[in-house]
Amino acid sequence: MDNIHKKNLFGMSKAEIEEIVKKNNWQAYRAEQIYGWVYQGIGQIDAMSNLPGHIREELKQQYDIFHLQIIEKFEEKKTKTTKYLLRTEDDLLIEAVLLRYKHGNSLCISSQAGCNMACVFCASAIGGLQRNLSAAEMLSQVYVTEEDTGKKISNVVMMGSGEPLDNYENTIGFLELVSDKNTRNLSKRNITVSTCGIADKIVLLADSGAGVNLSVSLHSPFQEQREKIMPVARKFSLKELMEACRYYAEKTKRRITLEYALISGVNDTPEHALALAQLTKTLHCLVNLIPMNEASRPSLKGSGEKNVAAFAEILTKRQITVTIRRTLGSSINAACGQLRSGFYKGD
Ligand code: SF4
Repeated sequence: MDNIHKKNLFGMSKAEIEEIVKKNNWQAYRAEQIYGWVYQGIGQIDAMSNLPGHIREELKQQYDIFHLQIIEKFEEKKTKTTKYLLRTEDDLLIEAVLLRYKHGNSLCISSQAGCNMACVFCASAIGGLQRNLSAAEMLSQVYVTEEDTGKKISNVVMMGSGEPLDNYENTIGFLELVSDKNTRNLSKRNITVSTCGIADKIVLLADSGAGVNLSVSLHSPFQEQREKIMPVARKFSLKELMEACRYYAEKTKRRITLEYALISGVNDTPEHALALAQLTKTLHCLVNLIPMNEASRPSLKGSGEKNVAAFAEILTKRQITVTIRRTLGSSINAACGQLRSGFYKGD
């Protein structure tokens, strides 16, 4: 049977594997063994050495273990960043970025191939959405990069290409899988979901009990301008977004991170900083200023160091907690969606 017609064991829950075992009249404890093998690392059914040969053969008739394939890898030595270009089974390209910190390896994963959200500064928006990634494809990004580096991933950030809350069910599936004690047992405190501001799904996520960190791309404190930079703002106003953030912070007791990419002459003026301070003063949040990675849209220029510092000062003087993120990985096109779009163009 062709691989494409086989079902992927990787991504299945324990209950689903128990169902397979039951259907085939194998002893019930085989489910535990199969489940253990599937999530132990990147393996094949043939390597399930504690299963009798006939069970392995029968399993192989209908199932396989599929992972994403590493197509290319780009290292930025200075910042210890590695960008992976990965291929799905149906030949789509997605990216994952590995960031090495003193406290461990953090992986920025993609939740969709492409993206429908059309944020003006983002390369992922260029080709639109190709399709949602499954929970297994999101988890596979963790497994293949761990296998490649030989080191465990300690933090996952859903900030690669795609909007995780536009792929809500699979995102929830991924969060359950990656935090399962039999897979990667990752603490929900070490997982961040990043959204461009889908307010109704932020409320759903708060109510789901997922308990992960939430990061929201804000990029302007003005409704009209935000609509121009991020079309999602036409559907969910700043007011609705702030209410959803407040709800999330109260319900989960987590501090929200507001991402603010500083674009020279566009959203980095003192008026923007003052309005941002006003907008966020009663929200349990941290404002993360990101000097924009210019390569993502050459027509837009990132703010200079002086402007970034002045912008931050206005906020801190008003008791807003601020961090300034270094633009990791700029020399390897590590901005969201950039590597993938370059590859499709044959750059
Ligand atoms: S910034 Fe995120 S939400 Fe916006 S287009 Fe890019 S991938 Fe999509």
